[in-house]
Amino acid sequence: MPTQTCQCPCGHTRFEIVGRPLFRILCHCTICQRFNAAPVADVVIYDAAAVQPPAPGSVSFQAYKPPPNVQRGKCTQCGAPAIEVFEAPLFPKLTMVPTSVHGTLDALPVPVGHMFYDKRVADVADALPKHSGLLASQGSFMRHLFAAQLWRR
Ligand SMILES: [Zn+2]
Ligand SMILES: [Zn+2]
Repeated sequence: MPTQTCQCPCGHTRFEIVGRPLFRILCHCTICQRFNAAPVADVVIYDAAAVQPPAPGSVSFQAYKPPPNVQRGKCTQCGAPAIEVFEAPLFPKLTMVPTSVHGTLDALPVPVGHMFYDKRVADVADALPKHSGLLASQGSFMRHLFAAQLWRR
């Protein structure tokens, strides 16, 4: 099983991932923009069980807008986005890790596409699929989630 150490820019928040990512996705929603202080979130999705949580007190979690039930955590020292936890009834618990804290980017998969592209700050000139609106964006997330989980069995 691949192991990766994730670390925020100041080094205060560290955690380990043991396992493969389910998929990686780019999100342009306004909450991600606010949380990341960036035009787009580049996140890698894992089964929550694959991610060993950071030490208590190193990350402060906040729900920016429920639902969906995502707790977004920033380093308590440098304020950098560090880790996001998604939990909902009848749904596998997921952990989302911003690529900015991932140590080895070359080990990561290519993003599967863009979500909430209608909320984009700027156009993106790549060949990845671009989904706009809640239904299409959530639909693509779910498809990739189920495909990744089926593929693993
Ligand atoms: Zn988003
Ligand atoms: Zn930090």
